[in-house]
Amino acid sequence: MAERSHAVISGGGVGGLTAALALARAGLRVTVFERAEDFGDVGAGLQLAPNATRRLRALGLLERVERHGLAVDQARLRRARDGADLVRAPLGAIAELRWGAPYLVIHRADLLGVLVAACEAEPAIELRRGVAVGGFAVASGGVEVATRRGDELGRVNADVLIAADGLRSAQRERFGFGLGDAPVWSGRVAWRALAPSGAVPEFARKYETGLWLGPRAHLVHYPLRNGELINIVAITEDGWRGADASDLWDAAGDKDAIARGFERWHPDARALIAAAPEWRRWPVFDRAPTRRWTAPQGAARVALLGDAAHPMTPFLAQGAAQAIEDASALGDAFARLGGDIGATLAAYESARAARAAKVVLASRRQGGIYHMGFPLAVARDLTLARLSPEAMLSRLDWLYSV
Ligand SMILES: Cc1cc2nc3c(=O)[nH]c(=O)nc-3n(C[C@H](O)[C@H](O)[C@H](O)COP(=O)(O)OP(=O)(O)OC[C@H]3O[C@@H](n4cnc5c(N)ncnc54)[C@H](O)[C@@H]3O)c2cc1C
Repeated sequence: MAERSHAVISGGGVGGLTAALALARAGLRVTVFERAEDFGDVGAGLQLAPNATRRLRALGLLERVERHGLAVDQARLRRARDGADLVRAPLGAIAELRWGAPYLVIHRADLLGVLVAACEAEPAIELRRGVAVGGFAVASGGVEVATRRGDELGRVNADVLIAADGLRSAQRERFGFGLGDAPVWSGRVAWRALAPSGAVPEFARKYETGLWLGPRAHLVHYPLRNGELINIVAITEDGWRGADASDLWDAAGDKDAIARGFERWHPDARALIAAAPEWRRWPVFDRAPTRRWTAPQGAARVALLGDAAHPMTPFLAQGAAQAIEDASALGDAFARLGGDIGATLAAYESARAARAAKVVLASRRQGGIYHMGFPLAVARDLTLARLSPEAMLSRLDWLYSV
């Protein structure tokens, strides 16, 4: 029997772990290197849109994900100033019918837990915690991957390297041919918090994704873990300025300063913000979309995946969903063409790059729409208020039906 191809994945986030499963299902042997001592993420929620849950179902993971996730009843958009409803659209009852898969919200650590357990149950996958990928060299017939655990250096030979190492992907920088664009700060900061449901006002305990729109700011909330926790994200246009976010990433926020930014908002929104026990800061970045996801040209052995390929602002809640789409497309390409790695990676790139670029740009635009001030916001709110739920849902078909 021919030996299985060996894939090394740099990064064990949602993208890397889902890719490991997709590649194992396509018949590859996979090693995932995660530089952190464990696979995980400090408290935050994720919306998993139908384009993501459809692929999790195809990988046999949806039932387990549904055990931890919640199918929210509706999305509700409100105006910050007076709390007026701008539009409500059903989600839970219609997602499966309309888009062929559920719309879920889930604690990110729970999703990662499902993915890690599935990887650990798969004999073709080896998970290596606390080991960073330090670089790679493409050689004839393969790629040599350099690893680092503390002072201990290592080398692993593989047929293909998948760089799923996030927004500040070191492997992407090593591509070194025209991808030198840096991540771009969107001018916004996402303040993230988790509050016990007992501490928040009643409206925020409902099984819905709430979205409040105000000038130069918006607020998102939804329940997690059977409604025991409420995920709150307050996005503002201040609180951070600078070129390098690394030292400010996930820093604590000042409760009073954040609350002051919302003091002209409706009392419901202010009460929710006041209920957050602590805030963590996430400066929001994206990057100009690139059509080139593979390296080097002609003898491709390395490909980007997830935020490493297409970091995006969170305003469409699609970053992880697009990483899951990538993973699934990569698995499909290997299942069809795997004998020829160059052709496989080219097929993966052409299946994914244009769609991901479209989502990156749509997400940028969405941020601009959410943060409009007077008078544009008046026109936006009138348009939204006139939208029927059906018209609102149909705007999402291109994104969720794929
Ligand atoms: C405020 C906010 C809200 C969001 N909400 C949503 C949402 O509702 N829905 C949604 O779909 N998306 C959402 N996103 C986006 C989503 O979080 C990301 O797009 C997603 O986590 C990307 O996954 P990834 O696996 O590509 O990268 P990451 O999650 O960044 O994982 C990369 C991994 O690689 C590891 N790593 C890095 N370098 C190395 C190395 N050299 N060697 C080994 N390992 C390495 C890191 O430790 C990390 O574990 C949101 C983002 C933000 C900021």
